[in-house]
Amino acid sequence: MELVPLFSGSSGNATLIRTDNANILIDAGWNCKAIVNALNEVGTNPEDIDAVFITHSHVDHVSGLDVFIRKYPSRLYATEQTFRGIQKRFTKPHTLTPDIVIIPGRETEIAPGLKVKAISTPHDAAGSCCYKIITEDKTCMVMTDMGYVTEDIMSAAKGIDAILIESNYDRRMLVYGDYPEDLKIRIAGDGGHLSNDDCAEAVKLLIDSGTRRFILGHLSENNNTHEKAEQTVCGYLEAFKFKKGKDYELTVANRYEPTPALVF
Ligand SMILES: [Zn+2]
Ligand SMILES: [Zn+2]
Repeated sequence: MELVPLFSGSSGNATLIRTDNANILIDAGWNCKAIVNALNEVGTNPEDIDAVFITHSHVDHVSGLDVFIRKYPSRLYATEQTFRGIQKRFTKPHTLTPDIVIIPGRETEIAPGLKVKAISTPHDAAGSCCYKIITEDKTCMVMTDMGYVTEDIMSAAKGIDAILIESNYDRRMLVYGDYPEDLKIRIAGDGGHLSNDDCAEAVKLLIDSGTRRFILGHLSENNNTHEKAEQTVCGYLEAFKFKKGKDYELTVANRYEPTPALVF
């Protein structure tokens, strides 16, 4: 399996998962041309995307979806509420049949031996969820856009082989930054995003459960930096004697270009 962030951050998100049986795109949050360029850059033909899974209807996850899915027809999956949230964007009608409507907590079979499980996320978009990709011997997860890590999310994530996990904001940068007060409250609230500290705590629990490969993603452009995200998480782990490169692998996803694939 390969986990390949194409771009990641509050400006736009798309992640490619390559398996022996199928190629999955999670989110299509930039224009179609940018998605196609990124796919080409990592050596995947856009025609070879078998399924697109949408986490939620915020623009940084769906802005290129309509054009991409028309140009490169593949199966589109989302929760019913997410479909409703993005329906205005569709120029191609999508009949919401049970085979494409995702129900959180359930697994959907995409190809023989390849399943995707949706888990609800606490986030301010109706029907928001994250996805776990499951093959016969490998698992990975894309886990962004959530105010906190619920028990369901943590139990799905425990022991997975690789994860792209949100490390959205540095608490000090958010508090002392110039965002309006109500936006600060939204970001830090239960329906907002994971801070670097929240991410560090989740990564520690995942290392305890046997997970070793991490990509930090969905960084805020204004309230975070690559260095702060990485230092916060790795610094926290060091207090538990976990050493990067020895006990775990960790990179930070690029905002505007593909991040080297995690192969496992
Ligand atoms: Zn987002
Ligand atoms: Zn969002």
